[in-house]
Amino acid sequence: MNKKLYVLSGSSGVGKGTVLKGFLSKNPNFMLSISCTTRKPREGEIDGVNYFFLSQDDFKKCIDENKFLEWTTFAGNFYGTKKKYIKQCLEEGKDIILEIDTVGALNVKKQMPEAVLIFIAPPSFEELEQRLRGRHTEDEETIQKRLHEVRKELARGEKFDYKIVNDDLNITVSTLENVIRGEMQDA
Ligand code: ADP
Ligand code: 5GP
Repeated sequence: MNKKLYVLSGSSGVGKGTVLKGFLSKNPNFMLSISCTTRKPREGEIDGVNYFFLSQDDFKKCIDENKFLEWTTFAGNFYGTKKKYIKQCLEEGKDIILEIDTVGALNVKKQMPEAVLIFIAPPSFEELEQRLRGRHTEDEETIQKRLHEVRKELARGEKFDYKIVNDDLNITVSTLENVIRGEMQDA
């Protein structure tokens, strides 16, 4: 059976990480791509687990060496997905999930039209802002930069294969499971 690449995306604070954690705890056979970033680790984040935390120089070197499937800048930092791990998982017959921003997701689709793009939408802008603030991981300037992106992200989300509104967390995780189960049957 062909294995697929799934891309989960949506605005910062919408709950992507939380939804994915719920999904992966119930579906441990799925591989999660670990991205590279130049942003500083948040408290509790571990290099090689949450991200590969790189300096700007090291990140730019990877760009020059064509190591990324896609990369982008988001709210003042670089983020990118390395090709190698993705290729290896697909060759080994493993399903893989990327959790990346909406620009990166559409760039992946251009290169791999078979990739399945899933947009996680907020119930409302106000709820999104509350979640982002309630996480207490960003300063005000960063929160403003992230909120500034929301309108464009919602517009890009219209081009995705699926949209799931993350209102009740358990329902969101079940809906994601149903979407992926349906795609696996098509593979
Ligand atoms: P993202 O990865 O999209 O930036 P997070 O997963 O960090 O977002 O979630 C942002 C905040 O919203 C966290 O504090 C998380 O606990 C909370 N959250 C996530 N999903 C829900 C939900 N369905 N209902 C209420 N709060 C949620
Ligand atoms: P955060 O700083 O909150 O961890 O992530 C900020 C944004 O960058 C999120 O939308 C997240 O999905 C996205 N992101 C994380 N890794 C990558 C990546 O490898 N590529 C792209 N394009 N975006 C990423």
